[in-house]
Amino acid sequence: MIDKPISATYENILAECEHCGCKNIYNRATDLKTFEPISGLDVVCLNEACEKTFRIIGDTISPAFEMFIFDCYELYKLKHYASCIINLTQAWETFFANFLRVELVYKIYTVDDDLDKVNKNLVKLYGLSKTWAFGTQRNIFINICMEPVVGVDAFAKKCNQLKKPPQRNGLSRVNPEIYGLIKRLHDSGIGELRNEVVHKNAYRPHKDEIDNLNSGRFLLITNPNDRQSLHKT
Ligand SMILES: [Zn+2]
Repeated sequence: MIDKPISATYENILAECEHCGCKNIYNRATDLKTFEPISGLDVVCLNEACEKTFRIIGDTISPAFEMFIFDCYELYKLKHYASCIINLTQAWETFFANFLRVELVYKIYTVDDDLDKVNKNLVKLYGLSKTWAFGTQRNIFINICMEPVVGVDAFAKKCNQLKKPPQRNGLSRVNPEIYGLIKRLHDSGIGELRNEVVHKNAYRPHKDEIDNLNSGRFLLITNPNDRQSLHKT
């Protein structure tokens, strides 16, 4: 048996059977029953005429928000531009949620803290944020980049203020390394466009709306260097 490298998406693992050449799609939730990265796993070929076992390796360990972005490259090739917009917005929402967990809980965690306190803070943060849509999450993210908040309790007290749209002329208060990105995020219409695609007119976007960097709408898929800069926050 040889190890077969795979192609991985957020939901699925794609692997070619070494015996029959069938291109198998294994859904992480349904077929593999795990969301852990697959470093090595024996799977059964889904081709009924084969059903032989082979080993898959080489899953990605990227965080969820990056997986949503990576999935866009295939969607883009297939001209599923509406799905690109949904995925990119979902990537942002997942990133914002992760940012709050890191900034407000993990970043201030010390070895002297007990884990119950950490878990209580995570639960409290989840309770505060579970109904927030893209616009609210974006406002909070930018406001915290302009003026950091320490801890979930302080965040809870300031929450209503942080939900308000940040003033564009105050954006220069963010770290200069990410100023350009924050400005583009602030000016982005991706949340509104996602609403047009999903909720209202089932809008079908044009390729240019994905490609057009100058509009500031699409922040992640077209500029991987900027994505790396964002990680430094
Ligand atoms: Zn097979």
